[in-house]
Amino acid sequence: MRKSLYPLLDLIYPKRCPGCHKPAVSICESCKIFWQKPPISIKLNKNSVSVLSVFSVAQYRNEVRAVLLAYKEDGEREAGKILTEALLQARRGISKHLVCVFVPIPSNPKSVRRRGRDFMLDLCNQVAIQSGDKVLSIIKVNRDVQDQSKLSEKERSQNLVGAFDCTPKNLKLLAKFPIILVDDLLTTGATLREAQRALRQRGVIPIGAITAAHTARLVRN
Ligand SMILES: [Zn+2]
Repeated sequence: MRKSLYPLLDLIYPKRCPGCHKPAVSICESCKIFWQKPPISIKLNKNSVSVLSVFSVAQYRNEVRAVLLAYKEDGEREAGKILTEALLQARRGISKHLVCVFVPIPSNPKSVRRRGRDFMLDLCNQVAIQSGDKVLSIIKVNRDVQDQSKLSEKERSQNLVGAFDCTPKNLKLLAKFPIILVDDLLTTGATLREAQRALRQRGVIPIGAITAAHTARLVRN
């Protein structure tokens, strides 16, 4: 239904770059540069048994944020293509030959209802079509959590403690394939740590995580 409206909307609103909003057929050359980087590796929980390697492509800035929001809140197709490509790039950082299972980070159920979709699940499915991986949405938010973007680093961790559950279905399938956690943005690592904890509680150890974008602070540490 929505697809059939696009040609009409494109006539009314000239196309714009989803990053900087300047008139452009798709993402402009200046914004493209932010997404055309080799993935970097960031280690969470360094020097611990629960170390988690995260591969991520774009460093967070206003133009990157705009693309993330355009896909997350409005389902903009061009933004979706950029994020899919970034996650594919990050995916290649983990392994080129193994077939893996993507486990998307879940959104708050309220946000899923408001948006009418689970954007990370949609994105994982798009990436998996191209990478040949599988997708299992087995982590659920089990209580009300506040919007992480409004909280300090300490508050973010506290907000998420015990917030995720791993549903026990398909655990046999999970045992057969390496698991990769997938999120749009790595900020403090609190979300991925909580997802990792929920999986470990079911005896599932992810081999790594991928995100489309990351903040600079974690790279420096
Ligand atoms: Zn641009």
